[in-house]
Amino acid sequence: MSGLLLSLAIFLLIASLWLFWRAQQQRRETGLPAGEIIYADASNWRQSERPLFSQRYLLTGKPDYLVETGGEIIPVEVKSTHLSGDKPYRSHALQLAAYCLLVEESYGHRPSYGIIQYANKTIRLPFSDSLRQELFDMMQAIRSARSASLVRRNHDDPKRCVRCGFRHACGEPIAL
Ligand code: SF4
Repeated sequence: MSGLLLSLAIFLLIASLWLFWRAQQQRRETGLPAGEIIYADASNWRQSERPLFSQRYLLTGKPDYLVETGGEIIPVEVKSTHLSGDKPYRSHALQLAAYCLLVEESYGHRPSYGIIQYANKTIRLPFSDSLRQELFDMMQAIRSARSASLVRRNHDDPKRCVRCGFRHACGEPIAL
């Protein structure tokens, strides 16, 4: 039973993370480091076989690939979208940061960076102290929101509500 509750809690946390990232996607990006555009040899990328899990942070996730290079294990996330410039979308950066944290927890070594492969370019994003802290801040905000009696909608985009899997339980969907 406790295993079921733990699984449910993890699922809800991941769902919340995903929703939070989506909600933040359109906001102005501040403070995030720009990534470095690199040429990546994908021949040594191996697909993650199972989700990584952190008991300490009650966090789980499955990067698309893990790369062993330079004595480090580097998470790689593949996105089908195009990116203009060299600054990844905030939601993508935080998702990658979560994978970096999970690699750190699972393999006992903090990766110095992660990789996001967009349709048109590949970005190497440092897993800096500031990005790590931003991830912790976001996780804390989500946990606080989960115990709040009311969490207000934080966007005015009807398209999000149309696609939202939580519409049935949401008190503030935008009607179309
Ligand atoms: S239905 Fe509710 S939870 Fe879903 S996107 Fe709209 S406001 Fe957010």
